[in-house]
Amino acid sequence: MTEGDALPPLREVIARYGLNAEKSLGQNFLLDLNLTGRIARCAGKLEGKTVIEIGPGPGGLTRAILDAGAKRLIAIEKDTRCLPALADISNAYPGRLEVVNDDALEIEETALFDGKAKIIANLPYNVATPLLIKWLGKRDRFSSLTLMFQKEVSDRITAVPSTKAYGRLSILCQWLCETKREFDISPRAFTPPPKVTSTVVTLRPRDTPAFPADQKILERVVAAAFGQRRKMLRASLKPLGKPTEDMLEKAGITPTRRAEELTVEEFCALARVYADQ
Ligand code: SAM
Repeated sequence: MTEGDALPPLREVIARYGLNAEKSLGQNFLLDLNLTGRIARCAGKLEGKTVIEIGPGPGGLTRAILDAGAKRLIAIEKDTRCLPALADISNAYPGRLEVVNDDALEIEETALFDGKAKIIANLPYNVATPLLIKWLGKRDRFSSLTLMFQKEVSDRITAVPSTKAYGRLSILCQWLCETKREFDISPRAFTPPPKVTSTVVTLRPRDTPAFPADQKILERVVAAAFGQRRKMLRASLKPLGKPTEDMLEKAGITPTRRAEELTVEEFCALARVYADQ
């Protein structure tokens, strides 16, 4: 038994409060409490922890996070229609759930808690990547991020070199975090079903980036390299305005290689050479 057992089934909540899914808000609701429980467990031990959830909607994942023992859950939801359903959950778990009616892209979420928090979210697909980039910029305030994306974005986050999905997002995420692909969820599990498969990923921010490099320079080098991913690096890096072959040789990289073949470590070595010139 948990406090939430007194709450009505999610389908009933959706009907009672008229929560017809709004496409513009990326609303695909997960009503299977086994699946929401599984997502919450990917974040590790939640007892005594502060958790941020983005887009709780009718509250399926919200209930699972509370059932998993989170001490304090701050749920940020843009759609005011969801607030009565979330207030019912808040009453069922006294003193543990705070609902903030705001836009996750705009809000300064780190001002809402002290120390570190975990983020757990079934993200609205249309804003998922900008939200991730925003949180990577404040990663010292998050001990983990367990996030559901459309599979194609999760593939990019966790991709290894020499694969189609490997690119700027893979390098930035893996440089700053340990990334782990958790599991896929079929469109059929959602109401309404989205067009694509979803995948849960956990990112654990590193204390220091995996290899030394200046982030701005690394981003510039990676952007130039992948700007023309089929070209050899000696050509694709030309927009950076330095003698490309010299720079690559100083970094120990053969100039005829292509962006997608380079490891994160090699991109960092290249960024250090560009920083010195
Ligand atoms: N967590 C619920 C679940 O798993 O069933 C709903 C997930 S649904 C994919 C995305 C949720 O994010 C919706 O509730 C939607 O209203 C909310 N949302 C969309 N854009 C948002 C934004 N910019 N800020 C905060 N919430 C947003």
